[in-house]
Amino acid sequence: MTTNVKPAACVFHPASTPDFLPAEQLQHLQLERLQNMVARAYNHVSLFRQRMDERKCKPQDMKCLSDVARLPFTVKADLRDTYPFGLFASDMRDVVRLHASSGTTGKPIVVAYTAEDVQVWTNVMVRTLAACGCAEGDIIQNAYGYGLFTGGLGAHYGAEGLGATVIPISGGNTDRQIMVMQDFGVTAICCTPSYFLHIVERAGEMGVDLKALPIRAGVFGAEPWSDAMRAYMEKAAGIKAYDIYGLTEIIGPGVASECREQSGLHVFEDYFYPEIVNPQTLEPVPDGGEGELVLTTLAKKAMPMIRYRTRDITSLITEPCPCGRTIRRIRRIGRRSDDMFIIRGINVFPSQVEAALLAVEGTLPHYQIVLTRQKGLDEMDVQVEVTAAFFSDKVSALESLHDRLSSAIEHTLGLRVKVSLVEPHTIERSMGKAKRLIDRRNEKTEA
Ligand code: ADP
Ligand code: ZN
Repeated sequence: MTTNVKPAACVFHPASTPDFLPAEQLQHLQLERLQNMVARAYNHVSLFRQRMDERKCKPQDMKCLSDVARLPFTVKADLRDTYPFGLFASDMRDVVRLHASSGTTGKPIVVAYTAEDVQVWTNVMVRTLAACGCAEGDIIQNAYGYGLFTGGLGAHYGAEGLGATVIPISGGNTDRQIMVMQDFGVTAICCTPSYFLHIVERAGEMGVDLKALPIRAGVFGAEPWSDAMRAYMEKAAGIKAYDIYGLTEIIGPGVASECREQSGLHVFEDYFYPEIVNPQTLEPVPDGGEGELVLTTLAKKAMPMIRYRTRDITSLITEPCPCGRTIRRIRRIGRRSDDMFIIRGINVFPSQVEAALLAVEGTLPHYQIVLTRQKGLDEMDVQVEVTAAFFSDKVSALESLHDRLSSAIEHTLGLRVKVSLVEPHTIERSMGKAKRLIDRRNEKTEA
């Protein structure tokens, strides 16, 4: 039997990781890995071979790192179109793990890991936690969801690899989270920032002063969160709150992480090669300029990813970081190049909601999604106009329509949300592009 976890006894020294390699050595390593990865992707994945052939690009053309720009892009739709296993470069016998993320249609996107991939993932999550000031001896409460979502297991393996003690509590049951935090001497917590906000609020109601507990670090990611939210949480809980970034298509959490400077996220670029492109022209953006983050995996075996368009908007910081890490940083991600939003960790597009609504008879194509934050948790209210006939009809008809809409949306998103039926012409009409999304989540907390 193979074991994918580094033995906890192996003491971890951040300085011995590629985070601190001199630039030339790092680039040498990146190029070597790039050449192997592109050859593997070309030989084992028909989509990549086809796209590279169209561009008359061969694996042996990867002579220097800038040759990455010759490779074709990959987008989320490619993962959907090849659902479930079409982009795998390994035999299923070598795949030790599958994860999935909420896709833009009813079908999720599926990703695979070999034992080596799990080790790489552990490695980058160990480095993430170390960058967030965690070390052997820490007691880490892992409140990211365990399951198909990559957050839980990613942070779990990282915490174990670091030699810390991990509490695999997963998300939810907030009162118990707070009890564990008090009783187990928790020193760091991993979860989404919005969930931590909820924990802070609930602790207040329970009369628990988080500032008086040993907890000193929060490792927060999977969704955008502002500096204002950070300041609020750090003050309320007496912790340092670090931003970590990742995405399922690339590996899960562990693509980039803040360090003690909390000023940009170091990309683990010995494994994930970053580029910034203009999302319209797809041309490279000069260093420091804002654009869409594009990532190429350099060592993934089961599912290599070539120039994956993340849709996340950021810029590369090329100045050296005072922490001493030589790997480059990206600025915190506040927005995406499309209209996706994330609610309770699930990716949602207004178009998905629209499709679900319109599939149910009796509704009008006038709807609005209102996002609010109540008690620290994101709430989504889908307001939809229904035909006048329904309002003059029996209450039971409205109730039944309401139920059908709720389940249609739940079926599409995998998320139960509030649905409000409103009379025709209630929702404001727009002269240009309709504003489907009203995001009020930051209105109160950030005042
Ligand atoms: P996972 O959180 O498991 O990686 P997904 O792959 O579904 O889940 O979501 C990835 C997306 O989440 C990213 O492309 C990005 O838009 C968003 N995201 C993840 N981490 C952050 C972060 N720290 N800040 C802003 N957005 C983030
Ligand atoms: Zn740094």
